[in-house]
Amino acid sequence: MFNLTEILNQAEFTKEELMYLLALRGDEQRKLFLRAAIIKEKFVGKKTYFRGLIEFSNICHKNCLYCGIRAANNKVNRYLLQKDSILEAVKFAYNNKYASIVLQAGEREDDEFINFINDLLVDIAKICNGELGITLSVGEQKTEVYKKWFDLGANRYLLRIEASNKDLYEKLHPNNSKHSFDRRLACLKNLQKIGYQTGTGVMISSPYQILNDLADDLLFFKAFDIDMVGMGPFIEHEQTPLFKHCKELPSLNERFLTSLNMIAILRIMMPEINIAAATALQAIDPVGREKAIQLGANVIMPNITPSLNRKDYLLYENKPCTDEGADECLDCLVARIDMAGDEIAWGEQGNSLHYQNRMKKRKE
Ligand code: SF4
Repeated sequence: MFNLTEILNQAEFTKEELMYLLALRGDEQRKLFLRAAIIKEKFVGKKTYFRGLIEFSNICHKNCLYCGIRAANNKVNRYLLQKDSILEAVKFAYNNKYASIVLQAGEREDDEFINFINDLLVDIAKICNGELGITLSVGEQKTEVYKKWFDLGANRYLLRIEASNKDLYEKLHPNNSKHSFDRRLACLKNLQKIGYQTGTGVMISSPYQILNDLADDLLFFKAFDIDMVGMGPFIEHEQTPLFKHCKELPSLNERFLTSLNMIAILRIMMPEINIAAATALQAIDPVGREKAIQLGANVIMPNITPSLNRKDYLLYENKPCTDEGADECLDCLVARIDMAGDEIAWGEQGNSLHYQNRMKKRKE
């Protein structure tokens, strides 16, 4: 038998305790949320940091079995934004004091793509005098490429492991060298070694996943000493091979509740990391991200991709805010964060405290 009050006063959990916490619902779940909210306030404050998300290309050379923009999906209208459009979105973020942006795209390792990002980083540095935090989320790359982008000003990298259990990973991806779990893990390690604030994440309640896997994911984040996490509920996309499993999955509401538990538990386990309130939460509950903010998340990624292209970046179905302009999205977000009881940290990059402490220790 577990004693919830005692467990919630711990900072570390066994795998059995994690599985118990992940399954909490009702009043006990509310106690977990309350504890996580207290830890959030104590360690990172009641503050939400903005990262303006620019989904600059949906061209991808990979075929993850759950993803709507996988290379084999020929129903997708493919795009690569013009550099000028991306820079307009960057200026919007800079002028509106977002202080950070995320440049996200499908995975490509060709020279044309790498040089495109090189040039982009040079131009962004000119626009913002190096004052914007820049997260890249463009997948697995060679170490020298990661290094070059770091030297050009990118200071954070998000590479979701999606499933820290290799067997599960291999069920969610094609079985070939382009989709190697070992390479993905090696890339994460390289990013950390180079000096990026390193972020990862997992899908929650995906096909084949059991609670045991989610407990392992939480232990993985801790053991890896990760600086940032973005994770959200699995939402099926009709044009993908894994869609056939959707009837076997927990209800959307269950997936949502488990996702909130993951965020709350992680905040208690790793109080100084940055945790994003994933957009997939909002696809299930209109105020899903705000709920996540209340119980532990401290980062939100307003989509500032030119709205014409947003409908073509559908990794999953019912993705919200695909037809709104950046201004409309900003207005509704400001009101929602306020309702969630947080203040928006305008003009603050909000670098991961965990990262700052990790780097201090590295120097000692
Ligand atoms: S999840 Fe990422 S790497 Fe995989 S197919 Fe989708 S965009 Fe490509």
